[in-house]
Amino acid sequence: MTDCLFCAIAEGKIPSKKVYEDDLVYAFRDINPQAKTHVLVIPKTHIGSCAEINEENSAIVARIFEVIPKIAEAEGLKNGFRVISNSGPDACQSVHHLHFHILGGEQMSDKMA
Ligand code: 5GP
Ligand code: ZN
Repeated sequence: MTDCLFCAIAEGKIPSKKVYEDDLVYAFRDINPQAKTHVLVIPKTHIGSCAEINEENSAIVARIFEVIPKIAEAEGLKNGFRVISNSGPDACQSVHHLHFHILGGEQMSDKMA
């Protein structure tokens, strides 16, 4: 997709602090961290949000969820972590390329909304 920030990051056209990469998935540090550890995990191909996950593209989402525990371990998140994906305006999604936030490294609120 043209003019997509996270497509550009996945392609290396916009710099980011890489945490993990394979053929399908790219992970990098959030520019405005909301926890001591804040990593974004994205598909390299464009999917707009969780609302666009379907039978055609769900294999890449499965891969993302295989990668998340590896990143959590590498980041030392032994005491737990939170995975969030904001989808659509009610959830305040601000970048319209599917991404999963991994948050951890400290005690977080028991409130999610
Ligand atoms: P959302 O609000 O869509 O759930 O999350 C978007 C996230 O992308 C935010 O946490 C924001 O800080 C992060 N973000 C926005 N622009 C950039 C950028 O250019 N680089 C990086 N590394 N993160 C970004
Ligand atoms: Zn994109």
